[in-house]
Amino acid sequence: MSAAFRGARYCWMNGEIVETDKALVSAMEPIYLGIFEGIKAYVEGDILGEGNLNIFQWKPHIDRLWRSAAVDGLQIPYTKDQLLEAVRETIRANGFRSNVYIQPRVWPRAGAEEAVHVVIPVWKFETLLGKGNPRFGARRRFMVSSWRRIASDALPPQAKSWANYANSALAAREAKRCGYDGAIFLDNRGFVSEAPGACIMTVRDGRVITPPVSASILESVTRNTFLEFIPRDLGIPVEVRDITRVELYASDEAFLCGTGAEVTPITSIDDIELGGEYPGPITTRIAEHYADILSGRVKKPGWLTPV
Ligand code: PMP
Repeated sequence: MSAAFRGARYCWMNGEIVETDKALVSAMEPIYLGIFEGIKAYVEGDILGEGNLNIFQWKPHIDRLWRSAAVDGLQIPYTKDQLLEAVRETIRANGFRSNVYIQPRVWPRAGAEEAVHVVIPVWKFETLLGKGNPRFGARRRFMVSSWRRIASDALPPQAKSWANYANSALAAREAKRCGYDGAIFLDNRGFVSEAPGACIMTVRDGRVITPPVSASILESVTRNTFLEFIPRDLGIPVEVRDITRVELYASDEAFLCGTGAEVTPITSIDDIELGGEYPGPITTRIAEHYADILSGRVKKPGWLTPV
């Protein structure tokens, strides 16, 4: 079983540290109404090593958890600072000194009108980033999914609800069944939307292009971060606009961005190879700079919160 389904030895549940195996709930939980966040903490100085951890973009992630809760009518009975302390406690309880994924989850309690469960599982993950990391350049064949991304007037992708991931799973499973490594959704208008668990950015003629929030995407913390540092730090122009399917095929480079995906280069889409060089030079520059930000080597006030 993968780490994502096992979790670490300890998690935080409704105010206390408990063994993950003993973090039990009723079989009657209203599981269709849960929300969550996906956050990462990276090792300071060298993200491929061990040492002190910093949480990346804590504030926008925790603010989005509150927004998702508001959309689904859930009241979180803790402050944002209490949850930050809870994350720190959970990481310390597990003794982690390498990169950690943190997934705060909130859902209504069985039989209680207003009360919710707040649970914070954590687990270690292997990054794709960092100097000389061989995982980064692996070949990845993607397909355009036959499933459309959920429309924001039906099930809003802007709220990070578990229910949205049923749509994601359809596309991911279809891709796997068809022998691909991943899927790209079109939105209900037929424009490029996002991947099942990440945003997409393309590169054409030296410009980075990414779909707007109105293309049924999650308002990604990583995407917002990239929109800020790519033009400012790397001098590469960025466009936020609709992308057609044919434009996607005509990209010089494409990559996924997200907390989980970090920077995941894409080799081909529907078996059409993108550009000449893989991973592309702009994708590689962005990934290297991002790794320097995550490790704290490039200073960004407020983006890293010590564990
Ligand atoms: N879209 C979807 C559907 C996702 O699940 C994620 C991962 N949270 C993203 C985009 C990227 O968002 P973020 O950068 O905030 O992790």
